Amino acid sequence: RNVLMWFRNDLRIRDNKALYAASMRSKVGGTGNNHFLIALYIISEEEWAEHDEAPVKIDFWMRNLVTLKASLDKLAIPLVVKTARKKTDVVKVVEEVVEGMGVSHVFWSQELMVDERKRDQLVREALMKKHPSIYVEEHEDQLVVPAEDVRTKTGNPYAVFTPFYNTWCKLVETESHYLEITEMPDANPLEAKEVYVEYFKAKPPSSHPHPLDVDEMKRRYPAGEDEAHARLDKFVQEKAKKYHQGRDVPPQDGTSVLSPYLNAGVLSTRQCVAAARIANKNKIQSGDDGLKTWIKELGWREFYRHILVAFPRVCMNRAFQPKTERVQWSDNDEHFQRWTEGKTGFPIVDAGMRQLKATGYMHNRLRMIVACFLVKDLLINWQQGEKYFMNNLIDGDLASNNGGWQWSASTGTDSQPYFRVFNPLLQSQRYDPKGEYIRRWVPELKLLTDKQIHDPSQALSPKDFAKLGYPKPIVEHAKAKARYLEEFKRALGLS
Ligand code: FAD
Repeated sequence: RNVLMWFRNDLRIRDNKALYAASMRSKVGGTGNNHFLIALYIISEEEWAEHDEAPVKIDFWMRNLVTLKASLDKLAIPLVVKTARKKTDVVKVVEEVVEGMGVSHVFWSQELMVDERKRDQLVREALMKKHPSIYVEEHEDQLVVPAEDVRTKTGNPYAVFTPFYNTWCKLVETESHYLEITEMPDANPLEAKEVYVEYFKAKPPSSHPHPLDVDEMKRRYPAGEDEAHARLDKFVQEKAKKYHQGRDVPPQDGTSVLSPYLNAGVLSTRQCVAAARIANKNKIQSGDDGLKTWIKELGWREFYRHILVAFPRVCMNRAFQPKTERVQWSDNDEHFQRWTEGKTGFPIVDAGMRQLKATGYMHNRLRMIVACFLVKDLLINWQQGEKYFMNNLIDGDLASNNGGWQWSASTGTDSQPYFRVFNPLLQSQRYDPKGEYIRRWVPELKLLTDKQIHDPSQALSPKDFAKLGYPKPIVEHAKAKARYLEEFKRALGLS
């Protein structure tokens, strides 16, 4: 009987607990003779569309599927790629593979989102109903420290980052097993190559249509675990020590840009923390300023995943703080469109939105600026922005995206307080003082001086401004801020 490893958002063979366990299982009872490890991937477009997965991200998955297949080929593990026309067909597809390929054991890595958990439960129940002796094993591999291990003194999940992070760090520092990297799976007996010749010959889809420049996307985000590890190593060796200084300076590209790889599961958070820890002489919360700051950002990734597990309402269109749901949002469609197109007349906001449109990625500082602008200057529901980000980000991730949006909108766990409103002009002058980032993404403004570029409609005469072909600000910040504060206070019962 064969063993099946169902790959989902864990497109890697290194440090993959479920894959390793499946590989060990396939060895039990002797090698050879029909005891093979088989890999499965299901293309499920309806499910992806329902979850607003960005086409450019799906394309990245497909490109990584090709490199994953190449790695599996070397281990003589056949990759079976199937399509589920409807999301409800996923159960049937797994059943068919199990039955058609003589599978007795099924392994996968746990996903944390509510819909995915329900789907997995349905698959498990259907398999066990039809095949009572089947063995299904789910591995928790999305978190460095399992949810149940990070608890307050009273045994509850944390809802605030700093105490969460302190506890998380203590655990990671004192219990070495959390950062243990899982071994590589063993190869199948070579005979598998003859038995499953059609799967070794088959070519999985290698792309998915998306509106961005295809070659440019391949150049910016090449697929594969080797690429992800090369980036991780290079970042940890060369850039991480300056991360605390460069991470908030958008034109400097001082961050790792590993998020697309982390979110496709080509790289694990554990591998990143482990690499940084080694470079930081085994320290997590102390030591080198750059490395410890970078580990802390990975801590935010962990935090938002823990929040998703403990408070699943956040992935069901609910605000973490329910009272903020009383806010009456603006339905100004034109404002929303202008925001998406990067035509708000606020250069720093427009630069961020255009970076997203052109590359499927946006610098973290810009994500905060544009999110705050949408919610607090335009008074548009943060959920519209959250959805737009998911539809366009190559690194879209429900937990981090929702966490980031709710933080920016002051509706979330550890949010900035509602009365804190970024001033786009001051943010621009502070984080892009020479306007380099703006010039990169808003070419209409590239000839302006460092001083003029942040607020051109005020800095130039009306005649000179008109020549730029750049829009006037769609709102007046001071007035917009006052409108937002009034509405938030009303909603929170403070006025
Ligand atoms: P680095 O600075 O090199 O950090 C390393 C890793 O740590 C990142 O890859 C990421 O996994 C994690 N990380 C860093 N900052 C954060 C953070 N604030 N929250 C959670 N994890 C973090 N991140 C996503 O991965 N997917 C999203 O869909 C997403 N949406 C966001 C939306 C908003 C409104 C905001 C404010 C933030 C969002 N983030 C999201 C978090 C952050 O912006 C990105 O993780 C980061 O910009 C990725 O770039 P990097 O890999 O160079 O990060």
